[in-house]
Amino acid sequence: MSDVRNVIIIGSGPAGYTAAIYAARGDLKPLVFEGSVSAGGALMNTTEVENFPGFPDGIMGPDLMDNLRKQAERFGAELIADDVTEVDLTADPKIVKVGDEVYRARAVIIATGSGYRKLGLEGEDRLSGRGVSWCATCDGFFFRDQDIAVVGGGDTAMEEAIFLTRFATSVTVIHRRDQLRASKIMQDRAFANDKIRFLWNSQVVELLGEDRLSGVRVRNTQTGDESVLDVTGLFIAIGHDPRSELFAGQLDTDANGYLIVQAPTTRTKIPGVFAAGDVVDHIYRQAVTAAGSGCAAAIDAERWLQEHG
Ligand code: FAD
Repeated sequence: MSDVRNVIIIGSGPAGYTAAIYAARGDLKPLVFEGSVSAGGALMNTTEVENFPGFPDGIMGPDLMDNLRKQAERFGAELIADDVTEVDLTADPKIVKVGDEVYRARAVIIATGSGYRKLGLEGEDRLSGRGVSWCATCDGFFFRDQDIAVVGGGDTAMEEAIFLTRFATSVTVIHRRDQLRASKIMQDRAFANDKIRFLWNSQVVELLGEDRLSGVRVRNTQTGDESVLDVTGLFIAIGHDPRSELFAGQLDTDANGYLIVQAPTTRTKIPGVFAAGDVVDHIYRQAVTAAGSGCAAAIDAERWLQEHG
């Protein structure tokens, strides 16, 4: 079949574009589906990225993604800004559909990322990277000597709160219940940290500030009373949703929906199907680790194609 591609890559975050760079340089002529509204992935929603190696002065998230995109194109990756709507990964060759359009490939790399859960408040996107953040490792450094808050009551929220005490003057954990969901050990650590205080039975109902976050309005879920908390940073740690629905019934996921691979490789249970980045990774969730696993997926795919020539 002449229209059968060597490899189709689904996703255009650091994992997808890095897989595209490697696959293109391996002369596999990859076809990349970038997604329609969110081409470039999670970093398109942020400002300065200071921890991606190679940029001593930092780089704006959208600029980094534009660079990766250009680098993939330079070596011949074909990019299409559409959403994949259906796949049949067990077919031979594998089938990837965009609406009625049918594409075929011998190998598929999945790099669809994961979505950070949002509070659903007005101004949340506008203030992202301007005081509102979903990643303490990424942004904690920007909040030195400031008063900040963390929303959430699970292990991630406690981890973020504890990590943020290295920089912040105070960290207020805002939780809608009167007890945490986090494991006992994480709770103990958070309770023992004198920079952390807790606002129980509380919900953020408004983000204050136009260009930068200047505070949050909090409502007590029991009394309905509202108050303003003067914080310059708000870390939202209420969970992530890996974008794996498209592959349901074909690939295995863990209880939280993350695709399962045969670590340390990127192989899934279907031969010729590989997965990389945040759709797999619930531990590190960094641009550089996503890029690293995208590289691994392209190399895994290249070797698999060679073996199954
Ligand atoms: P993503 O970047 O999420 O990309 C997934 C891609 O898949 C998107 O392009 C999407 O359009 C596409 N896609 C999904 N479904 C489909 C489909 N059906 N068809 C086609 N395409 C599809 N990390 C750092 O290391 N440093 C930072 O400073 C930093 N700051 C951050 C700030 C913010 C606000 C956020 C949200 C994240 C930040 N991160 C940071 C984390 C980092 O962005 C992620 O770890 C990384 O982007 C994950 O890369 P990925 O390629 O796996 O997925």
